[in-house]
Amino acid sequence: MSTTAPAEEITPQIAAEVLHHYGHRDTHKPDAFYGLLVKLMAKADYANARSLANAFPTWAAAVDLARYSSTGTDTLAAIAAGTPRPSVAPNDYSPFADADPRYRHVFPTPVFFPDPIPGGLALAACLQLSVVPDESLQILDLDAPPIGLCSDCVDWIRTGTDRPSDKPYIECVGCETPTQHDGLCAVCRIEGHDRWKAGTRKTPQLTS
Ligand SMILES: [Zn+2]
Ligand SMILES: [Zn+2]
Repeated sequence: MSTTAPAEEITPQIAAEVLHHYGHRDTHKPDAFYGLLVKLMAKADYANARSLANAFPTWAAAVDLARYSSTGTDTLAAIAAGTPRPSVAPNDYSPFADADPRYRHVFPTPVFFPDPIPGGLALAACLQLSVVPDESLQILDLDAPPIGLCSDCVDWIRTGTDRPSDKPYIECVGCETPTQHDGLCAVCRIEGHDRWKAGTRKTPQLTS
């Protein structure tokens, strides 16, 4: 199941208004409410950013680009100028994925655990768990990445550095190991994903 990424819904006006907050004073100034919303999103910690993103997904996607992606302001400027940009859909759904479901995450990963197998769950370059897509994204132009690609994944691949996770350590409900994966560790999530897939997916139909 793939859905449209909120980043694809960023309008030229939203892009311009978020850029205004980030110092591009030649762009459109937001009205008072959206000006405050962008200010709030730009300062929000992990939990509050998630809450705000649920209510205002497109604005959150635009702020995420400016806040976290080294190419984000270029992307917003391209959107504001109306330049078409390729876009990618988020990874397939899994109830055991904890990577941001609004974005496409990239493999291979900075760690070797486990080997990314298409359809399986594995750590993406941003160190969150995501369903491995069928195709490789390594051929993309990461200096002008498509809209909808996870900015943390892009930054890791471009620079070899990742943004430390600000998620809290919580004991895993499965094995009691402290984990930054929202209370279910990577190992338990991967096992859960495999069980979920085995139980819910039908045998693939052979097509000619
Ligand atoms: Zn990612
Ligand atoms: Zn566990």
